[in-house]
Amino acid sequence: MPERQHFSEFQQGSILKTIVGYVAMLIFCIRVEYVVVVRKIFNEYLAGKSPRDIANSLEADGILTGAGKERWRSSTILKMLQNEKYIGDNLTQKTITVDTLNKVRKVNKGQEDQYYIKNSHPAIIDRETFELVSKEIMRRRMLYQEKKRIYASKYALSDFCKCGKCGSRFYRVTRYTPKKYCVWICGQRLYCKDACKCEMRILKEQQLQEYVIEALKGSGMPVEDGYSDKIVRKYIKKVVIYEEYVLVDIFD
Ligand SMILES: [Zn+2]
Repeated sequence: MPERQHFSEFQQGSILKTIVGYVAMLIFCIRVEYVVVVRKIFNEYLAGKSPRDIANSLEADGILTGAGKERWRSSTILKMLQNEKYIGDNLTQKTITVDTLNKVRKVNKGQEDQYYIKNSHPAIIDRETFELVSKEIMRRRMLYQEKKRIYASKYALSDFCKCGKCGSRFYRVTRYTPKKYCVWICGQRLYCKDACKCEMRILKEQQLQEYVIEALKGSGMPVEDGYSDKIVRKYIKKVVIYEEYVLVDIFD
């Protein structure tokens, strides 16, 4: 192995020495004072908190990071949630030093050998919890991708508004009498004839926007600046129009 090393530079999983047939590695001992903190992080994530929320609550409790810093990054939390070290396993050489002088490290994409060692040290998190967290990370990632895809369309509400009677999307239509204004109409009312036509009411745009703002206000979201497509995309999961009311589903 090449020299890559002052002790301070060692990363988790660093190989200290290789001889024919063996590698010598760092060992992991539990820092008992952090067991509760680590478990809390995993549990709070499963309970629905975001990495940012978790980081904030750790800071509020005055808990220091592993390196003794006050500031917790949400990226640190997310990395922890995916780090197999917490279930007692060890994947070595996740990152490697590519520039010793400037201490630049890169993700190891196969340039160096990797070893996955099961039960290499005592676990803090059980495997079942870890697996649930991995699935939840995946689920939230897909949700995020879906929101990003939706972001591309012109009017935010056209992606979020559905008819409570027939399930069709709502469309924005401009009317000119007596003067210009916009309404939202169920697609099956707008485009279908006769038998399949949906009778769902037509909503004035301003009225629809008010429903959204009221719902966001009720959930304590920041809506001082009034309606915008941006806040819809940020906070709204869906809006379902019924004859007597409008159901606004919000991300929490
Ligand atoms: Zn309809």
